[in-house]
Amino acid sequence: MIARKSTEIYLDANATTPVLDVAANAAREAMEFSYGNPSSKHVSGLKARYMLESARDSVRDVLGCGNGQIVFTSGATEAIQMGVFSTLCHVRDQRDGEPATPRLLMYGATEHKAVPQAIKHWNRLLNINNKVVEIPVDQNGQLDCDFIAQHAADADLICTMAVNNETGVITDLNAVEKAIRDQNSEVMWLVDCVQAVGKNRLKLADTTIDYAAASGHKIYAPKGIGLLYVRENLTLVPMMAGGGQEQGARGGTENLPGVAAFGAVMAQLAASETRTFVEDSVLQGYRKQFIDALTEAFPKIVFNAPLEGSVPTTVNFSVKGFASSELLDLFDAAGIRASAGSACGSAVVGSYVLEAMGLPAWQSDGAVRLSFGPLTHQSEIDAGCLRIHQAGQALCDSCLLPSSKTDWAKDEKLDGLIQLKNGSMCTWLLMDSETGNCLVVDPFEELSERAEALIRCQKSKVLAVLDSHAHVDHDSPRKMLVKVLDDVVTEDAKTEDELGWPEKPAGDVELADGTRAPYINFSAKLIVAQVELPGHTQIGRVYLVGTMRDNKLAAEDVEFVFSGDMILMGGIGRTDFPCSDINGMFDSLRRLPKLISPTTVLCPTHDYNNEFSTTLESERSTNPFLSSILCDVTPMTLEEFLERKPTVDAGISDATNSELVCGMIKEPRSGNSEAIEIARGELKAFFAERKQSWIIDVREPHEFSFAQDWSELGFDEPPQNVPLTRLSGFLPTLIKETQTSGREVIFLCRSGRRSGVAAEIARRVGISNARHVSGGIALNVTTKGVADEWAQPGYMI
Ligand code: PLP
Repeated sequence: MIARKSTEIYLDANATTPVLDVAANAAREAMEFSYGNPSSKHVSGLKARYMLESARDSVRDVLGCGNGQIVFTSGATEAIQMGVFSTLCHVRDQRDGEPATPRLLMYGATEHKAVPQAIKHWNRLLNINNKVVEIPVDQNGQLDCDFIAQHAADADLICTMAVNNETGVITDLNAVEKAIRDQNSEVMWLVDCVQAVGKNRLKLADTTIDYAAASGHKIYAPKGIGLLYVRENLTLVPMMAGGGQEQGARGGTENLPGVAAFGAVMAQLAASETRTFVEDSVLQGYRKQFIDALTEAFPKIVFNAPLEGSVPTTVNFSVKGFASSELLDLFDAAGIRASAGSACGSAVVGSYVLEAMGLPAWQSDGAVRLSFGPLTHQSEIDAGCLRIHQAGQALCDSCLLPSSKTDWAKDEKLDGLIQLKNGSMCTWLLMDSETGNCLVVDPFEELSERAEALIRCQKSKVLAVLDSHAHVDHDSPRKMLVKVLDDVVTEDAKTEDELGWPEKPAGDVELADGTRAPYINFSAKLIVAQVELPGHTQIGRVYLVGTMRDNKLAAEDVEFVFSGDMILMGGIGRTDFPCSDINGMFDSLRRLPKLISPTTVLCPTHDYNNEFSTTLESERSTNPFLSSILCDVTPMTLEEFLERKPTVDAGISDATNSELVCGMIKEPRSGNSEAIEIARGELKAFFAERKQSWIIDVREPHEFSFAQDWSELGFDEPPQNVPLTRLSGFLPTLIKETQTSGREVIFLCRSGRRSGVAAEIARRVGISNARHVSGGIALNVTTKGVADEWAQPGYMI
């Protein structure tokens, strides 16, 4: 039993579990008293061997191994390799040098990556060149047994799993066994039992499973210890040759502390009648609590695997309109540690498991997995549910979920520019807290619900929904949005104009190049002027947002420009569509710099490299093609442009993107984010010395609302919160103020990822002393604002 004094709720047990006290003690004992080499013949060695074999006995009991062999390994990944390696060595021996018709190596589509990777690796390395085949699963995650039956006769190896690590789906192993063995009694069958041990009863020797893998760190033993079960009378080809340990199956002195710890957990399991940690009904009760709490907190939740037929310790869900990273950041801020799926794949967006089950992309991209260990305590479940509730509330307070709140305090009212993003797509909302006015620019269907929720929640009045151009690859949801927001859009917004410009603007304003453009009044300070700048498409506009003085909009008074697909971060809009106007693009590119200042913030429709927004100055200095067009001395001529631009467009590869790429995009620019490395525990002193610096926390408001005790970090008052989604809107202020004051800007967030992006953006637009705290504040803080009752020394099992 381990007593952790912690305010975190650990719900990522499928990734790894904490170590039980009995396991830690057994490991310590192995190191202190039974430190002998189990191969030694003296007393110390005999003691060590006794410990090794006792652990093996407990394992045999729990897994129902009969006369099968148990080989201790470094983990399940190694155990899987051993099963695959041994099988393929036999295949090679049987071929006896003769060329053979390739047979099949089959694995379930939802297997942990260790399985297909091992198969492909050894198939290649041993020069077997068999055909590697994925067994499809249905929408419930169950293997297609007809497919198995159809191909089993041609297979040398079939790999399946007992319980899926992402969804908790329990494979019907009886059905799989029948499908295999009715067709082929010889084929090797490997079952990954990692997520089943301690949760489901296993009796391996009662089955025809040839190899089974398990891992210590998924069931309260430490990392670095696992096992392979090998069916009776099956000869294993060792992958590691050495001193003949593990009955010759795996050379190398055994990891005795790991084995002892694993053995201690197994002995605890062996003492229970069901060979599980607790009754299934208890875990079912915990899961029900989570499901109820989640459903209440996130009304649009969907669960990604059937509850019936899954282990109760795993709950996988998605919430329409939210990417998994958003929910995980929120949960982490609330002190709940969860993940999107397999820990090994956490850098990848989307889940191949859910995709294999045929779930739509939004469910796969938005998946969150909560998984608790079978020994989790009731108080932890209660605290977890409370925090889920608080997390849902925080989203309501941020207007990202429908809120029943009607009286927003003034400082809770959204003001300024908000960037909604989905992949590369950017929809912009301009809000004015005084008047409640709102403008929507470049709506995308994927972002419309979120835009609607924000507008309704803030009780905004929509002056216009504008498109910068008619899109080539999709229809704008502009009309649909105007319709669903019917009760909050002004009559002006219900225009017949093809891009949504009001039919009766407030008047004409003189622009910096002396031309005139129609404008609408947005707030006491800002107007929005519409300028025709075709190129990417024949009908193309930019919208200038700035302060009008004496009926003029001077270049330096333009704060933002919604620039559509004309100038993007790292590129300019493509002009090779039938509806493009390449000559128009040249004129538009030459004209824009006359209307805005070098530091006006450009807000494009697409952001392919997570750069958020840019300025002309920044693009000119990093994009030689653009800089040559805009050159004041010897600019590129129209003829040259007409000649060179098609080559540039031809270099755009849509193939590497899931969507049509709207502009020439260079390789991601090597970001310069100026990281500040601060040793753990030294953040407090660092910030205490920087009272004059401008410290900006870029987490979203719903995460910031869970923020820690700032004094713990050397702050007298919480730092300014400018979420990354509002940083573009804040850039004009930041640029202006730092230009005059030269003040140091330091961005921070939880892990250093988003603050790094913020520092890059700031430096790109000319704020040269912007830096960020790499590594974030995660290692230096505790989470505040969570249930006090959970402040007890927790996790008593
Ligand atoms: N198989 C499954 C189902 C798993 O969940 C994991 C762990 O992530 C593995 C295999 C790999 O286990 P190990 O970390 O012990 O190598």
